[in-house]
Amino acid sequence: MRIAMISEHASPLAALGEEDAGGQNTHVAELAAALVGEGHDVRVYTRRDSATLGESVSTADGYQVCHVPAGPAQRVPKDELLPYMGEFGRWLADRWRRGDWTPDVAHAHFWMSGLATVHAGRRAGVPTVLTYHALGTVKRRHQGAQDTSPPGRIGYERALGRAVDRVIVQCEDEVAELVRLGVPRTRMALVPSGVNQAVFRPDGPVAPRDPARARILTVGRMVERKGFLEVVRALPAVPDAECVVVGGPPAELLAADFFARRLSALAESCGVADRVRLVGGVPREEMACWYRSADVLVAAPWYEPFGLTPLEGMACGVPVIGTNVGGIADTVIDGLTGDLVPPRDPRALGTAIRRLLADKVRRFAYATAALDRIRSRYSWKRCAEQLGAVYATVATIARPAPAVA
Ligand code: UDP
Repeated sequence: MRIAMISEHASPLAALGEEDAGGQNTHVAELAAALVGEGHDVRVYTRRDSATLGESVSTADGYQVCHVPAGPAQRVPKDELLPYMGEFGRWLADRWRRGDWTPDVAHAHFWMSGLATVHAGRRAGVPTVLTYHALGTVKRRHQGAQDTSPPGRIGYERALGRAVDRVIVQCEDEVAELVRLGVPRTRMALVPSGVNQAVFRPDGPVAPRDPARARILTVGRMVERKGFLEVVRALPAVPDAECVVVGGPPAELLAADFFARRLSALAESCGVADRVRLVGGVPREEMACWYRSADVLVAAPWYEPFGLTPLEGMACGVPVIGTNVGGIADTVIDGLTGDLVPPRDPRALGTAIRRLLADKVRRFAYATAALDRIRSRYSWKRCAEQLGAVYATVATIARPAPAVA
């Protein structure tokens, strides 16, 4: 099939770890590659944000990335992209209606991409599928007045749930959120993300570490909701262990990063500054070395639409302590493949870390069971196969003849 993937702010080619670049970028890159592996012809459409990139780039994984000229040529924060989605959708509709490459299905990632995709799909007679990746209702609940989403996001997300041919949900928690929002369960297909098991594996190079100290690793974008502050607050309860934080801007720019400074100041005031190390953002290819260097991976977000980092840690054979939220509540089985603790609870987190670091047998048992779980359920191939079946179903839905320009 010809599959268009629309990911307005999250390019599969971007460097990861900074504020707007993380799981969605990885997801789109890995999924596009896996779909190519299944024999599909895949194009990813993302907003151009650099004048130096050409309109279209062919990747080594066999899919194309098309840079859509909607909005300014430089980077714009994702929450400010809404005004350009009309232009984005018109550009897509124009390309797809010209007929040299019209997709059989268009899969949008994130609600803003959904708006552009529905616009183009209706005009070009292309069926549409949407993965939200994150929901406005959840963000509003947790971030309140600090939520920078454009006004109207929740209404758009509700409308999109009915406008697309299928909604792809990634975890049970998202199903419940969407049902509450008014999206019918029958429109949803549950397809969890995968993890690249050729890259994230227990054997391979390991980042340097101090053998005398246990290592707690935590990974993600430098934003408050990822829970790094709670991990630092938990550290006084875990004597002698070091905490390594991977993510954010590259190391040389950390000193200028507002959140990194806040994290360092907190470590100072908790008396653990000598045990907290901020590494900064590292390229995706180096992530497995960091996971393998850890005794435990802590994923402590306040909320998490899916959460790739726990899967990556599990695939590297590292036991995981996660918060009992979103996708993590599905991927980590409490007491069997890892530990789940309540979000925003440094005391519970500290107790869980201390207990696990003191128990080598339990760490081994978690890591072994987690690897089994990864191998049987979370490959990108499996994800691509399941999505291929969804695409095939929606592609058979009769389309009205595209409107004449
Ligand atoms: N990541 C990376 N380099 C970093 C920090 C993170 O490559 O310095 C990757 C990480 O391996 C994972 C993704 O970014 O694939 C983060 O995804 P997750 O779903 O955990 O969080 P999100 O960014 O979607 O909130």
